[in-house]
Amino acid sequence: MAKKTEWKETLLAFIAIVVIIFLLKRSDSTRFILFSLWVIFCFFVFLRNVYKSNFKNSSDKTRLETTRKNSFVGSLIVTIFFSIFAYFFSPKFGESSFGDLPQRMRLERMKQSPHCKVRCRRSKGVNEEKVEFQNIHPLTPSTSSSKWERLKQLWKLIKEQKNVAPIPSQKTDLFALDKGADVLVWFGHSSCFIQIEGKRIMIDPVFSEVSSPIPFFPKAFPGSNVYKPAEIPEIDYLIITHDHWDHLDYETVRKLKFKHAVCPLGVGAHLERFGIDPAIILEMDWHETLTIGKDFTIHCLPARHYSRRLFTRNQTLWASFLMETPSSFKIFMGGNGGYDSTFAEIGTKFGEIDLVLLENGNYSEPLSWHMQSEETIQAAEDLRAKALLPVHIAKFKLSTSDDPWYFPLDKIFELSKTKILNFSPP
Ligand SMILES: [Zn+2]
Ligand SMILES: [Zn+2]
Repeated sequence: MAKKTEWKETLLAFIAIVVIIFLLKRSDSTRFILFSLWVIFCFFVFLRNVYKSNFKNSSDKTRLETTRKNSFVGSLIVTIFFSIFAYFFSPKFGESSFGDLPQRMRLERMKQSPHCKVRCRRSKGVNEEKVEFQNIHPLTPSTSSSKWERLKQLWKLIKEQKNVAPIPSQKTDLFALDKGADVLVWFGHSSCFIQIEGKRIMIDPVFSEVSSPIPFFPKAFPGSNVYKPAEIPEIDYLIITHDHWDHLDYETVRKLKFKHAVCPLGVGAHLERFGIDPAIILEMDWHETLTIGKDFTIHCLPARHYSRRLFTRNQTLWASFLMETPSSFKIFMGGNGGYDSTFAEIGTKFGEIDLVLLENGNYSEPLSWHMQSEETIQAAEDLRAKALLPVHIAKFKLSTSDDPWYFPLDKIFELSKTKILNFSPP
């Protein structure tokens, strides 16, 4: 009878694990931690019962001891496995499936995009569709390194990210700003606050100490994270250029106050998973225009990059944005993207652009999905920019080069001397 009760407990524990894993998909961080603890608890209950039912009446003490040890090691391994598995279901990873009705509707819209390729496959008797967004000019793979070499590079980055002296910064009380003043505040990396002609815009805000699912890399350089989301006044339009962790940060997006979120196709699924009201999410395809006021527009434009929140690449779109104000002031926000002819096409289509925000990297080899300083300058010229603000630097260690964090700033400053460009130092 007792044995029967124990197996009932075991069965219940297993059912609990399965239910929890399903529930985790819709939970917030606190629930996630509680559920993970519950999974661990249930598993130990299960092991205790297995152990008891097998050896309750055994006289073989040595065998009992060995099994006890094996049970402990086994339970530890399975618990770690379950915890990692459960971690991947936490909301900060965003949405990875398009199963329920709103997501299926989103998927239908994504499939209409000329930049989206749909692949069909049959899995377990069910037809599955997989979407994949594509660049106008495909990416070329990195030539430099094997997987082992890349692991070594990652280790170098992890070690060296601590060796940075505090980064100087100037903090502004954004609540004290005159709403009529035109202001741009750069927070390091790609995060920017723009107040222009009565509208408040925020681009790719990341105020967390770490911008990845790994808790220790890449860490914000000392002194580079001086603002908190609570110090940002309510934003009219939050613009997210793509779903990479250094551009779309769960904690920051959860804490910021904003009226609308503008993002490329599919990224809204992540925002919904973060808990953002779907009614305020505006998803855009390349070459679409959003009107945000009288003669005030935001254009969603191509970029040469890729997306990935967890394992699967290119399930959501990536983009650059161009904002045109009622006084015809134009600001281009490049997000991430390698150099190609798209910049010249945008420059030709929209004419002179007053300010361009472009990534300015310092990588050990040219990359087709990011730009080095020489390409940044060329892209700014192609865009017919009057002024350039180089970004995607000064916060996270992304390059294995031994140059200091300010090297790309010095370099682009030197390069800009030969150009008719008004370089805007931070
Ligand atoms: Zn990126
Ligand atoms: Zn990035």
